[in-house]
Amino acid sequence: MPPVDLLAIAAHRDDVELTCGGTLAKAAQAGHRVGIIDMTQGEMGTRGDAQTRAAEAERAAQTLGVTVRLNAGLRDAHIENTEASRKRIVELIRQTRPRVVILPFAVGRHPDHRIASELGRDACYLAGLAKYEPGAGGDAHRPFKLLYALAYREDPIKPTFVVDISDVFETKMQAIRCYGSQFDGAKAAGEIHPTGQDLYELIRVQSAHYGSLIRKRYGEPFYTPETQEVTDVMQLGVQSI
Ligand SMILES: [Zn+2]
Repeated sequence: MPPVDLLAIAAHRDDVELTCGGTLAKAAQAGHRVGIIDMTQGEMGTRGDAQTRAAEAERAAQTLGVTVRLNAGLRDAHIENTEASRKRIVELIRQTRPRVVILPFAVGRHPDHRIASELGRDACYLAGLAKYEPGAGGDAHRPFKLLYALAYREDPIKPTFVVDISDVFETKMQAIRCYGSQFDGAKAAGEIHPTGQDLYELIRVQSAHYGSLIRKRYGEPFYTPETQEVTDVMQLGVQSI
């Protein structure tokens, strides 16, 4: 399998479309190889079954321009950060060999989201240890950069940066609409709380809010614990006053 540049890891099929689909589509359009690892098959979802969601996930990946979509086969609603689950995710990271990884934020409404964040982070580290499960998934590989997708979270954390997804917003929505079994007629999803509005409208409103933080139409927010470097202050965007 040829390596990917950017890899998004999340608990459930449809999680990455909701939180970072625009960023994935934008990277793919820029010529980067983009991959997704879904940790579970979504068998616990109230709507749709695992087969339906597999077909939907495949269509959504094609819509975003994602070249590799793998499934770790962990138990939906039962994700644990254990020896076995770490090894499984390490294998998939070594197979895909990303430079940048997008993970769920470490706080979440669904326990799977919270644990997927920690499990993904731990696996990214362990994948780089040559003596950790040698040969599992391929040679040791540690991603250079981890980004936490902050969309829809209400925690008092400012995004480290927001990606301008204005030009790919319709592509993101098209990918989300692939999950008709989950979302048609829905009022909430994942970390998105219901307000009575249609789910698709809620996603648009939230994306517009994040876009406004960088004075753009639509955006997706990310957090990194480490400080970001600026090489030329004259190139800084986002007007202050
Ligand atoms: Zn989810």
